[in-house]
Amino acid sequence: MFFPKPKKVNYNHYKENIKNPESKLGLDKEVKFCKKCVISNQRPSSAIEFKQNSSTKKKTTKITNSVCDPCNYHEYKKKIDWKDREKELVELCNKYRSRDGSYDCLVPGSGGKDSFYTSHILKNKYKMNPLTVTFSPSIYTSWGFNNFKAWIDAGHDNYLVTPNTKIHRLLTRISLENILHPFQPFILGQKLLPPKIASVFNIKLVFYGENEAEYGNSIKENKSSKRENKYFSNNQKDKIYISGLSLDTLVNDLKISKNDLNLYLPGSKDFLESKKIDVRYLGYYLNWHPQKCYYYAAENSNFKSAPERTAGTYSKYNSIDDKIDDIHFYTYGIKFGVARATYDACQEIRNGDINRDEGKMLVKKYDHEFPKRFMKEILEYLSINKNDFPFHYKFFEQPVINEKYFKNLCDSFRPPHLWYFKKGKWKLRKAAWM
Ligand SMILES: [Zn+2]
Repeated sequence: MFFPKPKKVNYNHYKENIKNPESKLGLDKEVKFCKKCVISNQRPSSAIEFKQNSSTKKKTTKITNSVCDPCNYHEYKKKIDWKDREKELVELCNKYRSRDGSYDCLVPGSGGKDSFYTSHILKNKYKMNPLTVTFSPSIYTSWGFNNFKAWIDAGHDNYLVTPNTKIHRLLTRISLENILHPFQPFILGQKLLPPKIASVFNIKLVFYGENEAEYGNSIKENKSSKRENKYFSNNQKDKIYISGLSLDTLVNDLKISKNDLNLYLPGSKDFLESKKIDVRYLGYYLNWHPQKCYYYAAENSNFKSAPERTAGTYSKYNSIDDKIDDIHFYTYGIKFGVARATYDACQEIRNGDINRDEGKMLVKKYDHEFPKRFMKEILEYLSINKNDFPFHYKFFEQPVINEKYFKNLCDSFRPPHLWYFKKGKWKLRKAAWM
């Protein structure tokens, strides 16, 4: 196992008028955009994270008759009888509500607007006894940490699980090199932790806020409040990947102990099934509006939006607690041609906060903006220097990285069917605003 320096790409593959440019990750060569929002058919659906490696073909958002599944789902939601759904929620809460002082539900989150709304409304309106649980961001923003604090100050118990920084840095760097996904170790930790903590405290109900599948997966997957077990449990150790590497490679070649990898591994299927943990989305029962969650959090606590807009978008209140998030969306944009402003705009167009023309303008202005603001700190975090990593630095041709290295690495992941190179600049072949 060795990570060589990224080579300069062959620009011949990235000519403006090339015939039949190559695609990557199994993406459809014909790029289509939804006529209602600004999403494209290149956006990957949420998947089972611990099965992803560099050869995984991505499932993506379906666009039929020029309309994407999330927009169709949004229309479907308008017909839902929310009073009926709330009754279902009350029944579910009645089934699990504790009377002996124990916790009766677990709410995972960072203390962002959505997890705030979830735990606060469950506790105050539905009289549940939630325990909140957080998998620590890689590098907290100061405002993210203040909001996390505001969440607890608003009346919640919380377990903050902070992974071993050395291992988390190493896995983050490997994930960057291997699958250009600097957020994957965090996503694994964050997604796999809740059922494990629930089993420790014998909590039978886990509540997420909104189902992320609503933003890109097929409509079928959104018609239930249940989160399927397959997302967080597994019995086949040989099918598990972290940072795109098999468990075997991580343990035997890179000599990372199983104990150090524990937080990133799914729980055993049999164990979780025997514990009968019921994982649900509150967004199935209550009509979710992200901006309203923000106002709710601001009214009920010291929750504040960020003092500056997030790199790569115009918003100040979505996913603002981890500095690494800036390069997460940037690298995502490299691989799939759509990035953070597209995400924000799609959500706001569907909710009627902005119209499609405004969305297109915002995407054009911000979507692939290079994330300068925390770059120095992020690159230090991703550098596997000899001092901190006396064993692992040898696995990297260039252990300490700079902006040039990061940009070359990003370029090596650009799919030619999405990008061309002209006069020293990368340009999209097709975009929502063209
Ligand atoms: Zn759409």
